[in-house]
Amino acid sequence: MSDTLTETRDLFSKFDEIIAVRENLLAQGVEDPFSLVMEKVLSPTRAICNGRDTILLGTYNYMGMTFDPDVIQAGKDALDQFGAGTTGSRVLNGTYQGHREVEQALREFYAMDHAMVFSTGYQANLGIISTIAGKGDYIILDIDSHASIWDGCKMGDAEVVPFKHNDIDAMEKRLKRIPEGAGKLVVLEGVYSMLGDVAPLREMVAIAKKYGAMVLVDEAHSMGFIGEHGRGVAEEQGVIDDVDFIIGTFSKSVGTVGGFCVSNHPKFEIMRLVCRPYVFTASLPPSVVATAATSIRKLMHGAAKRAHLWENSRSLHGGLKALGFQLGTDTPQSAIVAVIMPDLERGAMMWEALLKEGLYVNLARPPATPAGMTLLRCSLCAEHSVEEVATILGMFERAGKAVGII
Ligand code: PMP
Repeated sequence: MSDTLTETRDLFSKFDEIIAVRENLLAQGVEDPFSLVMEKVLSPTRAICNGRDTILLGTYNYMGMTFDPDVIQAGKDALDQFGAGTTGSRVLNGTYQGHREVEQALREFYAMDHAMVFSTGYQANLGIISTIAGKGDYIILDIDSHASIWDGCKMGDAEVVPFKHNDIDAMEKRLKRIPEGAGKLVVLEGVYSMLGDVAPLREMVAIAKKYGAMVLVDEAHSMGFIGEHGRGVAEEQGVIDDVDFIIGTFSKSVGTVGGFCVSNHPKFEIMRLVCRPYVFTASLPPSVVATAATSIRKLMHGAAKRAHLWENSRSLHGGLKALGFQLGTDTPQSAIVAVIMPDLERGAMMWEALLKEGLYVNLARPPATPAGMTLLRCSLCAEHSVEEVATILGMFERAGKAVGII
């Protein structure tokens, strides 16, 4: 007889359903889409994955900065001069010269007064949203917002009011119902990463302002690429001056890791003392902030790369559409082209068929995707050549026919 009073409830039982789905999928003999290993990385667009020479079409390396020689050199120099890590918080021993320099690079990149760097983009959303919108305040957000936005809302304990994805009227209706005088934060994304679609920021920001709300835009997937200076969708649509906070990441176009918020709010600097995901974690290593600062400064002069990435986006989108694939957007809107799969099983088969062809894309499924969709997400890089895009289309055609999707 056991000497415990009651039986221990297995806290893992809540994962039984996802465990079963995963086992089912793997029982069909497909390669595990969620445990791919990059054994060797040859360039921003090529790697040896699971033993095969593979074209990368599922990274967020939009501007191909990961192998930029100046960026790499800056990282090596900082490693030599400042060591491997800071071992401390930004507010104690963790602010090095490099952290100041990357924040200066961000202020210049966005032409804004304040920049605050976090250890990841996830923490930037978590920290900024939870700190500025607390109990009694209201957050009005797109239902398809990134997990880090939702988690920031939860942590701050504000009233959360979601509206239908990219629906301007739905947003306004929600705003109208919020009690007068309440603190309001509208949270939007420039590019939504699952379907690669862009938000109607021009209209949405104007409406938010009309109702006295502050506006935060997550430009994680547009920084470096969209807008004349690569500042994102808010720049492209001419509303950047009305946006109170822009959130971004170093893990996409910048090509390393880290997150940030830029703002013109006169009291912004107090965030460094009150924002817990900034205070209670170690700062980024000196090599990381040095690579980020160099990359951001180079992105200021990235117009030619931006133009080529648009060309790639148009070719891939047009080519896949012509082959008969169902896509997440009617027109190319960003560097992400999402291919909609009929179900998870065929999505996984298609993912594997592409991998065998020598192409890596992201397999995305709920809860990351909207409306229960299974997607093959293609994210392009400015370093993909015109020939590579043609090769990719050939791979999609063969795999799509073999799996019976087209
Ligand atoms: N916001 C959005 C919209 C994202 O897609 C992501 C990452 N995929 C993040 C924030 C978090 O960025 P990071 O990788 O720097 O944590």
